[in-house]
Amino acid sequence: MADSKADAARVQVEFGNFLADLGRRVARADGAVDGTAALALAEQALGGGRRATALLHGFAVLLAYADSKPGATVLDDEEGATRAAHDAVVRLEECKLQQRIDEAEAAAGTVTCPSPGCGAAAHSRGRMTRGFLSQHGRLSLQLRKSVCIKPECGTTILPGAKACGLTQHRFTPGCANAITQLSTALAYGQAVTLLGQLLHIEVSEHAAQELTEERGATLLALDQAAAKEHTPYADSGLERACGRPADAVAADQTPDVAYLETDGVHPMTRELLPDQSVEVPGARGGKGRKYKLEGAEVKNAVLYTAKAAVQEMPSRGCLLHKTYVSYLGHWTLFASLLWLTMLRLRFDQAKLLVVLSDGAEWIRSLGNWLPMRGRVLLILDYYHAAHRAWEVARLLYGDGTDKCREQARKWCGTIELGGVQHVIDELKELQPLNAGRPTVVEAVGKLVGYYENNRDRMQYPEYTKRGLRISSGIVESANFHVTGARLKQQGMRWTEQAARELALLRADLCSERWAVRSRQLLAA
Ligand SMILES: [Zn+2]
Ligand SMILES: [Zn+2]
Repeated sequence: MADSKADAARVQVEFGNFLADLGRRVARADGAVDGTAALALAEQALGGGRRATALLHGFAVLLAYADSKPGATVLDDEEGATRAAHDAVVRLEECKLQQRIDEAEAAAGTVTCPSPGCGAAAHSRGRMTRGFLSQHGRLSLQLRKSVCIKPECGTTILPGAKACGLTQHRFTPGCANAITQLSTALAYGQAVTLLGQLLHIEVSEHAAQELTEERGATLLALDQAAAKEHTPYADSGLERACGRPADAVAADQTPDVAYLETDGVHPMTRELLPDQSVEVPGARGGKGRKYKLEGAEVKNAVLYTAKAAVQEMPSRGCLLHKTYVSYLGHWTLFASLLWLTMLRLRFDQAKLLVVLSDGAEWIRSLGNWLPMRGRVLLILDYYHAAHRAWEVARLLYGDGTDKCREQARKWCGTIELGGVQHVIDELKELQPLNAGRPTVVEAVGKLVGYYENNRDRMQYPEYTKRGLRISSGIVESANFHVTGARLKQQGMRWTEQAARELALLRADLCSERWAVRSRQLLAA
């Protein structure tokens, strides 16, 4: 113990001597301090090199902030603190990233040309300096440049940049992550404003859009490749062992009863007309960019377990653990992406998969496609069935009349008790009685068809007895808050590709998978 006290005294003396020595070495003849000498000594003490310079830069920034006068308001003070914090660390961040690049370049060894079908060797052409924007400011980085030896190819490769996720967009991966995440949450204009105000990232709307679409396209390509790898059907159409993705949940999380709610939503998409010289009725746009408006369908699925649904009941809050899958395009491609997610969640091993929907044709095809023989139960959303009954009752007896209400309630009650066949019979009897009203006859005929098609998916008393849900309200809500809130704002028009990419990013964001997906991107 006594020794440690003596040690402490010795260290104090040593430190005092060190400071005194430092003072003598940086003192000029007139007694003033030689700033250059002081800085050089400090750099030396910090180990020299880029790291030491960066540390001293940070110290100088903090010092300047400490001495700065208070701003007009407390908001301005905090603004100053935020800027100082960014600026104090940015040179060090640059150092660390440069170190990673250097290591990646050393590890890369001989570089081969990545250009499709080339694969020739690439020769190093020295290093170049490139600027990148990080969340803390501008970084200046040295990158080795290699060029393909085939003159007709001439592809340029930056092996260090690729390994560190640095693209030609000149944003660091973290910065690109912030830009794309906010651009997925909000319209581009709004996202760019918030990026500037909250994160001090200056980016154009155009760049934000390009980055976001690129992320969507890359992730979609990764998903499609994985979906192909895990497809449950061989080219012959026979079932095959499809394996399981590496990031699947643990086996003990396999649900007994799993739910799949699925539905479609239509953002405004536009297709450029292939022949711009031909006048097409209803075409819009200026010279050379004529297009026609469509409403391509984004197919949405929500996956959750019966356990998660039970937890929701007492408080009537929203379900906490939901996973969304969204895809604009044919149901077979949607199905393969959905299956990939089901494998990841182990829903394929559930004892029962309940598919809740509005009874759209493609959803029934999807139900048949799922390779879970005898374990898939399709249920028609009760509220769709009831809503349709109300529509026809209004047509028959007039909106708001007693007779309309009485009839609609009776039909809904009968359906709820499992008596859809009675309703079908009654509707059929109504047709000849209304022969003079073609719109009524048509509507009644359509409803009969709808109920007949879905009869076996309307056994509501049986479902409720088994404790199963009979509403697809969660996916109806997802149509709005997952897809519509970003893709269906007033005046928004999309190309099909852009809508497809953004729909996928929205599903990631709302499934709380954004961070996981960013790491997946970096590893690809
Ligand atoms: Zn090449
Ligand atoms: Zn629907």
